[in-house]
Amino acid sequence: MSTDTKRPEEPMEAEEAETFAFQAEIAQLMSLIINTFYSNKEIFLRELISNSSDALDKIRYKSLTDPSEIEAEKDFHIRIIPNKDEKTLTLIDTGIGMTKADMINNLGTIARSGTKNFMEALQAGADISMIGQFGVGFYSAYLVAETVTVYSKHNDDETYMWQSSAGGSFTVHRIPNSDDLKRGTKIILTMKEDQTEYLDEKKIKEVIKKHSQFIGYPIGLQVEKEREKEVSDDEDEEEKKEEEDEENKEDEDKPKIEDLDEDEEKKKEEKKIKKKIKEKYTEDEVLNKTKPIWTRNPDDISQDEYGEFYKSLTNDWEDHLAVKHFSVEGQLEFRALLFIPKRAPFDMFENKKKKNNIKLYVRRVFIMDNCEDIIPEYLNFIKGVVDSEDLPLNISREMLQQSKILKVIRKNIVKKCMELFQELCEDRENYKKLYEQFSKNLKLGIHEDSQNRSKIADFLRYYTSHSGDDLTTLKDYVSRMKENQTQIYYITGESREQVANSAFVERVKKRGFEVLYMTEPIDEYCVQQLKEYDGKTLVSVTKEGLELPEDEDEKKKREEAKAKFENLCKVVKEILDKKVEKVVVSNRLVSSPCCIVTGQYGWTANMERIMKAQALRDTSTMGYMAAKKHMEVNPDHPIIDSLRQKADADKNDKSVKDLVMLLYETSLMASGFSLEEPMTHASRIYRMIKLGLGIDEDDVPEETADEDMPPLEGDDDDSARMEEVD
Ligand code: ADP
Repeated sequence: MSTDTKRPEEPMEAEEAETFAFQAEIAQLMSLIINTFYSNKEIFLRELISNSSDALDKIRYKSLTDPSEIEAEKDFHIRIIPNKDEKTLTLIDTGIGMTKADMINNLGTIARSGTKNFMEALQAGADISMIGQFGVGFYSAYLVAETVTVYSKHNDDETYMWQSSAGGSFTVHRIPNSDDLKRGTKIILTMKEDQTEYLDEKKIKEVIKKHSQFIGYPIGLQVEKEREKEVSDDEDEEEKKEEEDEENKEDEDKPKIEDLDEDEEKKKEEKKIKKKIKEKYTEDEVLNKTKPIWTRNPDDISQDEYGEFYKSLTNDWEDHLAVKHFSVEGQLEFRALLFIPKRAPFDMFENKKKKNNIKLYVRRVFIMDNCEDIIPEYLNFIKGVVDSEDLPLNISREMLQQSKILKVIRKNIVKKCMELFQELCEDRENYKKLYEQFSKNLKLGIHEDSQNRSKIADFLRYYTSHSGDDLTTLKDYVSRMKENQTQIYYITGESREQVANSAFVERVKKRGFEVLYMTEPIDEYCVQQLKEYDGKTLVSVTKEGLELPEDEDEKKKREEAKAKFENLCKVVKEILDKKVEKVVVSNRLVSSPCCIVTGQYGWTANMERIMKAQALRDTSTMGYMAAKKHMEVNPDHPIIDSLRQKADADKNDKSVKDLVMLLYETSLMASGFSLEEPMTHASRIYRMIKLGLGIDEDDVPEETADEDMPPLEGDDDDSARMEEVD
């Protein structure tokens, strides 16, 4: 066990090791990395360099407010040293380093949420190169290394060494009196027998160029070189002398030969002839261009270069979908590069994850990568960099929150994102890709960003009753509106199929009006805010007050129906009592006898379903927001008409009561609600089935008769009711 007291007489080597077990999921991930065949192993280098770059960002940022943090080591760089004899590849950075506790926690004992997600993704066929996205990039070292040894020195601790050859455990040692590392991390990879190609200069250069050329710190590769050195004769003589001395020491008896004649010696003196000798030496060759790409002129940057930069910035394994590179000048100055990825990250809407993907720089110095106020939450899928000329270098998170400069930057970024979406709209296929991945974000934008709401509305796409298999824009919808149509009709629900077949859509569709199908949960929230488009109100076909444009004839017919069914509506309301707010004659139904619509301002059936599914939410809103139900009856339906006749004849007819209950429960379900007491409904149905099969209630054996079945209305008058239903 190591002790923390420093004894000067201790040797410069590791103290006794402490052994730790890898957290179970990490151990599993490591064996997956080691035992599965991946051809794309080179990405290990990108991952380790990216970690180094992050560590350098951290110390540089710290030093802005406290320059003493970099007293030990002022230079920021990354070095790579291949050693073919030892079969090792060493990576050194002068980043922030890790304390002993950091090492134990970050390299093995605390699992990230991404560990499991990544394994699942791998098993589902994802590529190993996605590893960086899941926050477990370090372990990619085991793609090529048998043993990984990490030395690290943090300002707050001594140098520690972490080591593991996988197999479920790692060790941590203290390295007393080490002055090898002033600050930072040194990772030594002992390569697997078949992975020594990564010790080749050419290979390393190729991999760095491919994956890490845009790292903002110099990456030096130690290369072996040979040079011709010019030495003057004097020097040469001296060297020779030294050599001779050595030889003489070895062989004292060897006779000295003096064979230079005096003239020649003179000539040499005069002309000062120089001699050339060959010598081997090592030198660091810087492999990356550290001039940040966003400072360059967009005209000089190829799409490939943007792609490479995007990948190195985000650890993404594929190119971006779209990019915007711009600068803002005037009162305030900044440059930015914004990318839309091709895919949504696995944890985009994970709670508490407030992080965005915009790296903030101030005059080329990295400041932070999760500045919350730089971009609104709904745009958190946008990745990129922003480099401000105006913010102070030593700005703190708190100061940033108050900063007017940041507010202007944010406004501009949003504006540019809107432009970027607009540009993408012109390319149908690519826009489809964006929409598939990020429609939720855009809809969240409608909800959150009142200033840009109408702009974002143009980016929305929906299936409709008329659009077939294509998505349509609101603009196209409006262009197809009928002459007398003043409103935009929509329905929310669980799936396209469900809403397309819903009773609510029937008449609207039959009358030739188009209905938008909103089938994502977030549509409910979105449409609450998007009350109108292009001056036309959006109207839900499942809510009360749906008024379809009608001509004089239709109007007259409806008035007549209203009068004819007034009594039935009253009777039904009395039977259903508090279950519904009111009962009215419908103008939206065609083939269904009735439906349940909801109040203008309450939740829809779909919203109620979504809310009930959120198990942890506060249930108090359930009370006042829960859908206010209105029953609508279809005056053209034979069931309703027969019911009317019965109710008109005798408003206390018991069979009417039971049939109304059955109709109510059935239309609740058909309208997308769930039943509070499904068993009662089921009992009613079973009884109907028995009647249909001609089974007498008395024939049912004792044990199968349901003792607990609630009493049903008109139990004594089954046959009469059956006739009505037929
Ligand atoms: P990620 O880098 O995505 O967080 P990794 O598995 O690559 O995930 O690294 C785990 C953690 O180990 C890092 O978050 C960091 O705290 C630490 N770490 C890794 N490499 C270095 C390094 N070169 N210098 C300092 N800390 C490092």
